[in-house]
Amino acid sequence: QAKQQDVPFRFFEPHMGAALASRLDMAKRLSAALADGSLSLHFQPQIDLTTLRLVGAEVLCRWHDPELGVVSPADFIPLAEERGMIVPLGNWVIDATCRQLAAWQAAGLVVPGQLAINVASRQFDDDQLITTLQRSCGEHGIAAGQLGLELTESGFMSDPDQAIAMTEALKTLGFGLSIDDFGTGYSSLAYLKRFAADKIKIDMSFVADMLHNENDHAIVTTIIAMARSLQMDTVAEGVESVEQAEALLALGCRQAQGYYFGKPVTGEAFAARWLMPVPI
Ligand code: C2E
Ligand code: CA
Ligand code: CA
Ligand code: CA
Repeated sequence: QAKQQDVPFRFFEPHMGAALASRLDMAKRLSAALADGSLSLHFQPQIDLTTLRLVGAEVLCRWHDPELGVVSPADFIPLAEERGMIVPLGNWVIDATCRQLAAWQAAGLVVPGQLAINVASRQFDDDQLITTLQRSCGEHGIAAGQLGLELTESGFMSDPDQAIAMTEALKTLGFGLSIDDFGTGYSSLAYLKRFAADKIKIDMSFVADMLHNENDHAIVTTIIAMARSLQMDTVAEGVESVEQAEALLALGCRQAQGYYFGKPVTGEAFAARWLMPVPI
């Protein structure tokens, strides 16, 4: 089966229109970006609501194109998925995350908890994922337990048995596992139980209005109760106010991430704000 990125650009015809032309151009630029260093990582703190301490961070990819400017991952991740580039891009993110962790360790900084990497469904279907994780960890001297993987529900709906086998393999190796954007997909309780992820991330669309919308409040309440009964942690995403943080804690949600605590920032800014030296 020919991969989309193998389609030569000479097939391009003017009648294909400006939108497609610009997507093709963007795809070409993204593929160059993978090699030329215009991708970077940002880190967003995850906070324990009971202690207000850092318990980890989410790794978010950024693309700075000299002509297009800063392209949002909301645009370039779907493009990478469409054009068959998500596996190399994902591999780059894994490697760059391990390199950053190693640099922090070498500088004598403690990184509590895990750095959580987003894994697209297509990466999760790929046997190479484990090889890539192990190689990057090995090369940079990182333990599996220092990394978490964030997977959306769609990632295990296409082939649940394969996905369950993959999650079990990853957990056995020691990697953390979270279900991202929880509540926006269609996973059943039965699947959730079989996946045995460590954490559920409550989608920010429910958090945004939980103080004013009864339905959203009920959904958040239910997710937290369900996670607790399955012995999983919950992380609320998109927490933007102290009122939301307090309400979440009162409902039993242990961890939060959002602009109220800190926006995603460069590794340098993250270390300066959040990381402490190893105690002597
Ligand atoms: P996500 O995994 O749900 O990541 C959370 C998004 O919410 C991030 O957007 C983050 O900057 C944003 N966010 C965090 N706190 C707040 C808040 O308090 N309020 C609001 N309004 N937004 C908040 P970002 O960085 O633009 O990433 C968008 C999406 O792109 C991510 O959604 C994820 O699905 C994808 N993505 C980013 N980096 C990667 C990557 O390395 N690999 C893959 N496969 N996907 C990635
Ligand atoms: Ca995520
Ligand atoms: Ca999310
Ligand atoms: Ca999302």
